[in-house]
Amino acid sequence: MHAMVLNKLGAALEWTELPDPEPGPGEIRVRVVACGVCRTDLHIVDGELPDPKVPIVPGHEIVGRIDKLGSGVDGLTVGERVGVPWLGRTCDCCSYCKQNQENLCDHPLFNGYTRNGGFATTTIADARFAFPLGESGDDATLAPLLCAGLIGWRSLRIAGKGKNLGVYGFGAAAHIIAQVAKWQGRSVFAFTRPADQATQAFARRFGSTWVGGSDEMPPEPLDAAIIFAPVGALVPLALKAVKKGGRVVCAGIHMSDIPSFPYSLLWEERQLVSVANLTRKDGIDFLRQAPDIGIIVETTQYPLIKANQALEDLRAGHFEGAAVLVP
Ligand SMILES: [Zn+2]
Ligand SMILES: [Zn+2]
Repeated sequence: MHAMVLNKLGAALEWTELPDPEPGPGEIRVRVVACGVCRTDLHIVDGELPDPKVPIVPGHEIVGRIDKLGSGVDGLTVGERVGVPWLGRTCDCCSYCKQNQENLCDHPLFNGYTRNGGFATTTIADARFAFPLGESGDDATLAPLLCAGLIGWRSLRIAGKGKNLGVYGFGAAAHIIAQVAKWQGRSVFAFTRPADQATQAFARRFGSTWVGGSDEMPPEPLDAAIIFAPVGALVPLALKAVKKGGRVVCAGIHMSDIPSFPYSLLWEERQLVSVANLTRKDGIDFLRQAPDIGIIVETTQYPLIKANQALEDLRAGHFEGAAVLVP
């Protein structure tokens, strides 16, 4: 097998030939057919997340076909197409796991961060944390659903049922979740970097009711806002844009510092919350709904060996939508 390996934080990934891994008990071996590139991969490469495993193969939006089952795997078959997301394994015994909050598990493993992920031709996954994908839908356009879609879905759920939804940062997650929100009958107010014409046009194309710069106020007060951009300075702006009792959801795993702001922005029962990881139920619920919603995913595809280019293009904002690696 081949993989793009991060050997040192902050360094480029290296194209590496490795022996084919063997699935252990409860694991599956997956031939990767597509793997999305997520902003979290950039945070991992840049060393912005605590305690990464290094060397590591990044990648946690994996679509592949099972080619070998470890012992004790039930309900999956060789040849079946599966999705492997960020949540790689949980302990099943901590207080969070026992209360259906496995996204907050005390002893989790995350694919592409603390266990090897999908920037590779082959990967090993815990069978309990892989989602059967069926045969409908194209491999490369399914991949971004596994993190951008899933984290967006969880964020949307936590944002509540309000009609007017603000979205700060219109990349992979936002363009998926704007379609879900519209399907649910909501209005999406998209905020981009001020004067970012290309992203504003993209946000309009994906069903936004209103599009503007993050320094602007929306034409109507928002019921809730989701911040996808890793920019702490957006927090006070989003709090200002939501109405009394409104909620601001921070969807990213890493954000620059939040500047201090007057208490009046939080007053009147506005809420500021974050979303961490996913539960398997999030994945099952979202992937079951996705075909009905008819989500269109805008992808820019790169050969696996060009993973560094994909990461740099994501950092520089050189494409709209989601980057996907294909072997
Ligand atoms: Zn991700
Ligand atoms: Zn746990």
